[in-house]
Amino acid sequence: MPTRFLDRYYTPGVAFKRAPLRKAAVLFVATVCLCLCGLLYLQLEQSRRHDLNQAQIASSNLTRAMAQQAEDTFMKADLVLTSLVDWIQVDGFGPALRPRLQKTFARRVLSLEQLHGILLFDQKGQWIVTSFESLPRGPGVADRDYFKFHQQNVTSAAHIGAAIRSRENGEWIIPVSKRINDKNGQFQGVLLAGIKMSYFDQFFKSFSIDDNGSMFMALTDGTLLARRPFVESQIGTSLARNEIFQTLLPQASSGNAMLTSVVDGIVRLFGYRQLEAYPLVVSSASSRDSILAGWYDTAFRSGLIVALVMLGVALFGWVFLRQVRVGERVEADLRKAQEALELIATHDSLTGLANRRLFERALDIEFGRGARQSSALSLIMLDIDYFKRYNDTYGHVVGDHCLAQVARAIKGCCHRKADLAVRYGGEEFAVLLPDTDIHGAMTLAEQIRRSVMDKNISHTGSPTGYVTVSLGCYSFVPTGRDSMEVFIQRADAALYQAKHAGRNRSAVLSMEGHVEALMRSDR
Ligand code: GH3
Ligand code: MG
Ligand code: MG
Repeated sequence: MPTRFLDRYYTPGVAFKRAPLRKAAVLFVATVCLCLCGLLYLQLEQSRRHDLNQAQIASSNLTRAMAQQAEDTFMKADLVLTSLVDWIQVDGFGPALRPRLQKTFARRVLSLEQLHGILLFDQKGQWIVTSFESLPRGPGVADRDYFKFHQQNVTSAAHIGAAIRSRENGEWIIPVSKRINDKNGQFQGVLLAGIKMSYFDQFFKSFSIDDNGSMFMALTDGTLLARRPFVESQIGTSLARNEIFQTLLPQASSGNAMLTSVVDGIVRLFGYRQLEAYPLVVSSASSRDSILAGWYDTAFRSGLIVALVMLGVALFGWVFLRQVRVGERVEADLRKAQEALELIATHDSLTGLANRRLFERALDIEFGRGARQSSALSLIMLDIDYFKRYNDTYGHVVGDHCLAQVARAIKGCCHRKADLAVRYGGEEFAVLLPDTDIHGAMTLAEQIRRSVMDKNISHTGSPTGYVTVSLGCYSFVPTGRDSMEVFIQRADAALYQAKHAGRNRSAVLSMEGHVEALMRSDR
C-alpha cells in the first residue's frame, strides 16, 4: 500500500494492545502460584508449630507423671525407713530384738511392691537384719558408696545411691538408705531399702512412645538409674555431659528442648524435670520425625494438591496465551486483508493510481486543511490527446498499456509526499497538489507533459506522431465553503482550453474563471 496514501488519507482501525494482556496473564499466573505457595507455607508452618506445641505439652505431662511416680516411690520407701530408723534408734538392734525387726522388715517389703528388700547394717557394714529369711555371708557393704556416705555425713535425710546389683539375688536395685545414730549422734549403722529397677521399667513401659523415643531417670549428678529402652551396660554411666545436665537444668528445673543426638544423629524433643523432694531427674524424649509423621503426610498431600492446582493454573495460562497469540495473528491477517481491500477500493487496477473514491476523500480532507492553514490547493486535469484514434489504430490492449505508461510518467513527476495522482476516468487523469500555488501547478503540469512526450510512445493518429497530453490547471485557497464540483470544473475548463488551443499544452484558469496562460513547448 502506498505510504503517502496510508499516512495522509487512511486511518487504520486501532489494534488491541496485546502485549500488556500477555504480561498481565503471566503476572496473574505467577501471582496465583506465589499466593498458593505462600498460603501452603503459612498453613503448613502453622500446623507444624501446632504439632510441636502439642508434643511439648504431651512431653511435659509425661515427665510430670514420671516425676510424680518417682517421688511417690521414693517417698513411700523413705517413710518406711524413717519410721524404722526412729524405732531402731530408740530400742537399738540387740540380738533379742532382731527376730521382731526381721518380721517387721518382711511385712513392710510385702506391703510395698517397689521394695526389693530392707537391710540393716552395723557400723562396720555387716548385715544385722534383713527382710530376707537368712542373712547373707560375706565381707559386708562397707565398700558401697551409700555406706561410706552415711559414715561420713551426719545428715538424717534419705540418700539415694547409684543403681547396684543386689548381693542377695543379683537383681538391679536403687538403694535408698538412712543413717542410724546412737543417743549421742554417733554412727551406728545404715538402714537400706532396695527399690527394684524393674518397678520403674514396668512404669516406663506403660507409656506408648515411638521406636526412637526414650525415658530415663537419673541422679542430679547425671548417674543413670533407670532407662527405657533398658540397656544394662548403660546403667550407672554418667549423663553429666548430656546437654540436659550441662545447659538446660542449670537454667530451669523443668522444660522442653529439641536436641540432636550425638550418638545416632536423630533429632528428639526432650522433656525433663528435676524432682523437688529428691536429687533425681526424669526425662522423656520423642523423635521429631515421629512427632511430625502426621504433619509430613499432610504436607505431602497438601503440596501435591497445590502443585496440581498450580499446574492447572499454568496450563490455563498457557492455553490463554496461545489463544491471545492466535487472536493476534487473526487480527493481523484481518488488518492486512482490510488494508488490501482498502487498496483495491481506492486504487485503479490498471495504472495503480488513486481512483475517484480516494480522490474525493482527499479533496474533502485537503479542502479542510487548506482552509485551516490558508494554503493554496491546486489541481491538474490531464487528458491524452487523440486517444480514441490510438485505440482504433493499436487496439485496446495496447491502449491500456499506453494508459499505464502515461500513469507512470505522471507518478514519476509527483515528488512531494502530499501530491496525489488520480485516474479520473477513461484516459483522463488528475493530480491534486496540496499547499501548491498556480505557478507550482503549472510547472508540474509542464513537467508531466514533457515526461509523457519523453516516453516517445508512437501514435500515428496524432499530428505529432507520438502520444501527447493536454493539461488544465486551477488553484485557489479554500475558504471552508467551497464546492468540489466547481474546483474540478475549473481545472476541467482549463483542460478544455488547452485542447481547444491545439492540444499538447498546459492551460491555467484564473480564480475568476478566465484563461490566464497557455503554455506549449514543442520539442
Ligand atoms: P481528445 O484529444 O479530444 O481527448 O480526443 P480523444 O480521442 O482522446 O477523446 P475521446 O474522449 O473522444 O476518446 C477517449 C477514448 O479513450 C475513448 C475510449 O475508447 C478510450 N478509453 C477510455 N478508457 C479506456 C481504457 O480504459 N482503455 C483503453 N484502451 N481506452 C480507453
Ligand atoms: Mg477524454
Ligand atoms: Mg482524450
